[in-house]
Amino acid sequence: MATVEYKNIAKSFGHVEVMKDISFGIADREFVVLLGPSGCGKTTLLRMTAGLERVTNGDLLIGDRRVNDVHPRDRDIAMVFQNYALYPTMKVFDNIGFSLEVAKVPKAEIRKKVEWAAEILNLTPYLGRYPKELSGGQRQRVAMGRAMVRNAAVFLFDEPLSNLDAKLRTHMRVEIRQLHNRLGTTTIYVTHDQIEAMTMADKIVLMHAGRIMQIGTPDEVYERPNSKYVADFIGSPSMNFIAGAVETAGGAPRFVAEGVSIGLSPEIKAKPGQKVIMGVRPNDLGISDAGEIKGEVVLSETTGADVQIHLRVAGYDAVAVVPRDERRSAGATISLSVLPGKVHLFDAATELRVA
Ligand code: ATP
Repeated sequence: MATVEYKNIAKSFGHVEVMKDISFGIADREFVVLLGPSGCGKTTLLRMTAGLERVTNGDLLIGDRRVNDVHPRDRDIAMVFQNYALYPTMKVFDNIGFSLEVAKVPKAEIRKKVEWAAEILNLTPYLGRYPKELSGGQRQRVAMGRAMVRNAAVFLFDEPLSNLDAKLRTHMRVEIRQLHNRLGTTTIYVTHDQIEAMTMADKIVLMHAGRIMQIGTPDEVYERPNSKYVADFIGSPSMNFIAGAVETAGGAPRFVAEGVSIGLSPEIKAKPGQKVIMGVRPNDLGISDAGEIKGEVVLSETTGADVQIHLRVAGYDAVAVVPRDERRSAGATISLSVLPGKVHLFDAATELRVA
């Protein structure tokens, strides 16, 4: 069983502690994405899993074996690097089969495995080429082929798509996910790209400054971010935030700020007078005559099917995404309403979600 478990993992470089108290588990066959901004520690956590970096404190388990002191080679993992790390002087066939050659696997078996991987990855016509004769996407697939032939229990991916152009990235995202559906190998995938995380992960581990901010399915982190930080990090364009307070005058609770007054679901456990930050996603705003948020259009950007309307709302900048036929010109005053149930509230002091 290829589970992975982190128990109170801490990591220091010299005297600088960059990570502490990291605890979570990865189930067999799960595709987990470590997501976070540059410097949050996701690569370090991946490298500790691979054995390329020592764990300072805590226990790291692969299956039911503690692997803190196990050599990378003996951890039953295969890693795909950002720069693919292909051998330039070896043809694709030998690049894919290299680890098996080193392990003295019989030639016939190597051939079988390399051909199997090449078939799945659509690399069969390229087995006789050198890496420099391949496109970026093909090189990426060779790197995946190398991981596949090793029968590893866990695949580790370190930002594997960051050197590809946008279109190819989208394509490879689908390919990696399909490969996972087919092979079912437990996967840990590092990225700073929230779209990659949202589209690929079974479970997202969102990190910030060496800590875990939230663990959840893509739907959970998108629909119920547990802090303003997570709410801001996930979703594009980013969530709008307006600082205000909860008022209960007249019975039903409302979020009130300058130019804004929105009825809240009675289930929201905000205290009367509590200072909060309201968050609403651009896609959860619609233009409506009776809208609760009034603003002036600064700019409309057509992105395709949709229009991003940039607004000024009582001193705040806000963005609404609406269908292209609802485009408005700069200078127009519009009112927006929030789709039912789509208001997020965060305590102004702690920035944690008000449930
Ligand atoms: P990026 O996306 O930029 O690679 P990351 O989230 O993967 O960022 P890490 O590379 O894991 O972040 O780095 C986490 C922290 O550890 C950073 O503050 C970084 O400066 C520090 N760090 C990483 N490697 C070393 C090292 N070898 N020596 C000292 N500090 C390090």
